[in-house]
Amino acid sequence: MSVPESPQPVPLVYTDVTVVPEHERNELEKSISSLEGEVLELKSKLKSLDEKRKEVLNKIIDTKGSIRVFCRVRPFLLTERRPIREPVSFGSDNVVVRSAGVRKEFEFDKVFHQSATQEDVFGEVKPILRSALDGHNVCVLAYGQTGTGKTFTMDGTNEQPGLAPRAIKELFNEASMDHTHLVTFTMSMLEIYMGNLKDLLSARQPLRFNEASTKCNLNIQVDSKGSVEIEGLTEVEVPDFTKARWWYNKGRRVRSTSWTNVNEASSRSHCLTRITIFRRGDGVGSKTEVSKLWMIDLGGSERLLKTGAIGQTLDEGRAINLSLSALGDVIAALRRKKGHVPYRNSKLTQILKDSLGTRSKVLMLVHISPRDEDVGETICSLSFTKRARAIESNRGLTDELRKLREKKISELEEEMRDTQESCKKIITRLQEAECLLSDNKKLLRTTHEKYEEDIEEKLLSPINHLKESDATPKSSDKLVKISKSSGYVPRFMTSTVTSRLRQTMSEKEINARPQSIRSVAKTLTQLSTSQSLSLSDSRSRGLLRRSYTKPLQAAANSGTPETPKRDAKDTSLQRKNISDTPKSKMVTSSDPNVRAKLCYHRRRMSSLT
Ligand code: ADP
Ligand code: MG
Repeated sequence: MSVPESPQPVPLVYTDVTVVPEHERNELEKSISSLEGEVLELKSKLKSLDEKRKEVLNKIIDTKGSIRVFCRVRPFLLTERRPIREPVSFGSDNVVVRSAGVRKEFEFDKVFHQSATQEDVFGEVKPILRSALDGHNVCVLAYGQTGTGKTFTMDGTNEQPGLAPRAIKELFNEASMDHTHLVTFTMSMLEIYMGNLKDLLSARQPLRFNEASTKCNLNIQVDSKGSVEIEGLTEVEVPDFTKARWWYNKGRRVRSTSWTNVNEASSRSHCLTRITIFRRGDGVGSKTEVSKLWMIDLGGSERLLKTGAIGQTLDEGRAINLSLSALGDVIAALRRKKGHVPYRNSKLTQILKDSLGTRSKVLMLVHISPRDEDVGETICSLSFTKRARAIESNRGLTDELRKLREKKISELEEEMRDTQESCKKIITRLQEAECLLSDNKKLLRTTHEKYEEDIEEKLLSPINHLKESDATPKSSDKLVKISKSSGYVPRFMTSTVTSRLRQTMSEKEINARPQSIRSVAKTLTQLSTSQSLSLSDSRSRGLLRRSYTKPLQAAANSGTPETPKRDAKDTSLQRKNISDTPKSKMVTSSDPNVRAKLCYHRRRMSSLT
């Protein structure tokens, strides 16, 4: 090949191998820096939209009532005879009970009829789960006579899962869509019976409840900020829904097996599931926000004389009824900010104290029976809820005020929809931008290395490459090495007529090798500069998926759930990232913020099997 005359024959070979990468690298670098700017901007927009969404949601919930009371009526069971005149009738927000010529009407925030599905009930609970993720403490309590469907609502069946499994699933769903925070969860379950606490997720399960009460040392602690913690309670990390469900089922099993042949007592114990939510912003030095979601299946509320219970059982019943009325008193007192609260401080109310105050959201689900025989208990349960509902100031509104409130709620809901829509759009763009960014960064690394390899290759095989230029100096290695070490090609090494010619030839060569990194590099550079990388490309999609897999999922792959290990308490261990920590039992501090940072490992050798 003849080489045209060149005023600078010496650098010819260098311009040949470096002009293209330099040009591409410049393009890439420009694209990377503009994408980085865009990602930052999008994140900041998303953050402010998220703040707005949070505020609007809170307004919606508070306008609807931060203590809401729903009523669910159990359908007749196959074994039950349906009376000709049913004692209970209902509208969308009221229940009417007729008994012995007396008519009593009760209002609710929502009434779930016998035909209501588990989805229907969950639909009403969903918004407050979002609120829990936003940092509010949330309490969902199922209340009512034994056999009215509390456990069905909270737990459900395999075919018809209840609130708790649905809520847990939803939390993971929402967390995976949060692009500005790292959200992690822990779970605890306990049972309260006659003032005794039983840890349902503990590795060692005593056979009988009384054993549990003596052996489980669970102490309720309140720190200076009013945050409640149960010391000694097993708290397991749940990196994904499968593991959370596994633990939840384990807790439920422990609850049911410990009560074999003790039906009366089992129906009178409270079962509490707590999901603790740790939400940390992705900015440097962001604080971890901690909130709790309590899902509680309360003990049967029926009065005991009807069941003919005597002795100790009667006292248990009294304790439970008292604890429930105390619950109403505690909520009332906390909401009115009276300071000292004159109420019977049951274990239940002590545990829930920080989850019933003004910033928290409470949802009570009163369950009633459709049966004639249960009318007395039905009235009793419904009357109790009147008290809970009375705590909210926006009850008993006139029709006009009620309409105004409805209007406000629908306006807020509209605003919420708009905000969510904008969030979605930004998230989509953010995903694209982050994907391109990661692709371009990778490309910059690989092509850069590839070109250097090419250069070395060419220099080492002069027959293949140098035949194109007889003017190649012997000292070329040195220069290439400089270029390699600095990663920078000087401007004076610009293309010449010859090099351009050779460039055309090498492009032909590129076309002949479509799979070469070089050609991929070029295509991606062009795409990235126009920011139109096709997401239909399977490789891009793969990359997109990989770059958006949250770190939480890494922890999710750490094997199947196991019995929690009791680890030695070691406060020196910094808990940098919850998902970093191996599956272990956490014994918690009373300050949730401290808990977010510290991982306590408590190992009791005696319990290791
Ligand atoms: P509780 O926990 O209040 O004592 P359960 O949840 O055990 O009551 O319900 C008693 C029975 O009624 C169970 O067999 C349950 O499956 C059934 N049941 C309760 N609510 C419903 C419902 N909404 N739909 C169908 N079956 C229900
Ligand atoms: Mg039950």
